[in-house]
Amino acid sequence: MMVLEKNIPYKIYLEESEMPTRWYNVRADMKKKPAPLLNPGTLQPMTLDELSGVFCRELAKQELDDTTPWMDIPEEILEFYRMYRPSPLVRAYFLEKALGTPAKIYYKFEGNNTSGSHKLNSAVAQAYYAKQQGLKGVTTETGAGQWGTALSMSCAFFDLDCKVYMVKVSYEQKPFRREVMRTYGADVTPSPSDKTNIGRKILEEFPGTNGSLGCAISEAVEDAVSHEGYRYVLGSVLSQVLLHQSIIGLETKAACDKYGIKPDVIIGCAGGGSNLGGLISPFMGEKLRGENDYRFIAVEPASCPSFTRGKYAYDFCDTGKVTPLAKMYTLGSGFMPSANHAGGLRYHGMSSVLSELYDQGLMEATSVEQSAVFEAAEQFARVEGILPAPESAHAIRVAIDEAMRCKETGEDKTILFGLTGTGYFDMVAYQKYNDGVMTDYIPTDEELARSMSECPKVD
Ligand SMILES: *Cc1c(COP(=O)(O)O)cnc(C)c1O
Repeated sequence: MMVLEKNIPYKIYLEESEMPTRWYNVRADMKKKPAPLLNPGTLQPMTLDELSGVFCRELAKQELDDTTPWMDIPEEILEFYRMYRPSPLVRAYFLEKALGTPAKIYYKFEGNNTSGSHKLNSAVAQAYYAKQQGLKGVTTETGAGQWGTALSMSCAFFDLDCKVYMVKVSYEQKPFRREVMRTYGADVTPSPSDKTNIGRKILEEFPGTNGSLGCAISEAVEDAVSHEGYRYVLGSVLSQVLLHQSIIGLETKAACDKYGIKPDVIIGCAGGGSNLGGLISPFMGEKLRGENDYRFIAVEPASCPSFTRGKYAYDFCDTGKVTPLAKMYTLGSGFMPSANHAGGLRYHGMSSVLSELYDQGLMEATSVEQSAVFEAAEQFARVEGILPAPESAHAIRVAIDEAMRCKETGEDKTILFGLTGTGYFDMVAYQKYNDGVMTDYIPTDEELARSMSECPKVD
C-alpha cells in the first residue's frame, strides 16, 4: 500500500480561476541583463525595425523588452490554453517508492496535448501575433518534430500558412510526425533542401548530410524574408519563447504555494533552454530578488554539451549565418551533432537568458549520456505510467540521481523536474535501447575546438 502524504494529491491541477493570466519576464529582475542580439553586419544591437523584418512585430518587441516584469496574456491565447491547460503537477509517489528514497519528487507534465510537448505554449502565442499583424503565414524549422507539430496546430487554429523545414534525419526517422503536421495543414520539407539558396549551398558542401537544426533555421529564415507576408518563428532559444513558457513555471509555483511545497532543487532538460527557462523563471525571480533560494540544474546530452563544454561568446543562431548574433554558450554554429535520439536537444547554442544566469553562477549544468538517459526513461515509464520523450528523460536521469543521493544521506529534499513531453514518436530510439545497440557518442575536444574557433570575433 502506498501512503499518500496528507493533503498532497497525486496530481495537482489548478482551478480555472487560479490559472495565470500574465507571463513573467525574468529578465526584468536580472541586475546584469542578457547581452543584446547584434546585427552581424554592423555589430550594433538589433533595433525593433530590423528585428521586425524577420519576426512578427509584437514578438520582436517582447524580444527586446528586458524591463517589463509582467505581460498580460491576450484573451485569445488564454482561451487556447484552456483547451489543454492547466498541466498537472504530479507527485511521483511510485517513483519515490521504487527508488526507496526519502526525497519527495514532483514533475510538471507538459505532454498532455497532441503535439506531445510544452512547445504548444509558445506556438499558439506566436501564431496569434502573426494573425494579429495580418500576415499570410509563418516559416520555421523543426528538429525532432514537436515544435513543427505545435506550430501546425496553432496555425490551423488561426488559419495561417505554415511552412516547416524539418531536419532530414527526423523527416526520415519520424514519418508519422510529418503526417501529423500535414494533417494540420502544414507544408513540410526535409532540410537541407533545394528550395533555398542556403539549402543548395549546404547540400553542395556536405552531400548526404543528415541536416541539423542550424541548417533548417537558415532555410526557414531565407524562405520568410524572401516571401511577402511571411515571418519566421522559432520554438526555443529566444527570450520571447522563454517568456511564453513562463506559464509552466507560474502554474507550478501557484500549485506549490497552494499546497505549501517548497522545491529545493529544480531540474530541466536544456536544448535551447525554453522549457527550463519557463519552469524556473518565477523561482529564479525569487532568487534574484533575494526572497528565496533554490538550486537549478540544466541537463544536456553529452553529445551536444553547450553549457558544460561550450564557450560564452557571440555566435550565429544558424549554420548558414543569416541570423542575428546572440551571446550564448555555444559549440559553434557549424557544430554538427551526432545523430543522437534526443532530437530536441541537438542545438549548438543556448538561450542568452539562461547563458547569462549560468555565467553568473545562479544555475548549474550537467551532461548525461544517452544510454543512461534511456535507462532512466524506462524505469520511470514502468512505475509512473508515462512514456517520456527522450529529451525529458534527461531531466528524469538527474532527478533520479539526486533522489539516490538523498537515499545515501537520508535527506528528504524536495526535487522538482520538468517532464516536457511524451515519446510515442521516438520508438526507433527505444527499440535501439531495448535491442542493446544504443551507442554513446561524446565529441572530442579537438572537434569542439574546431567548431568553436569559427565563432565570429566580436568582443
Ligand atoms: C524541444 C523539446 C525540448 C528541448 O527544448 P527546450 O527549448 O530546451 O525546452 C525538450 N523536451 C521536449 C519534449 C521537446 O520537444
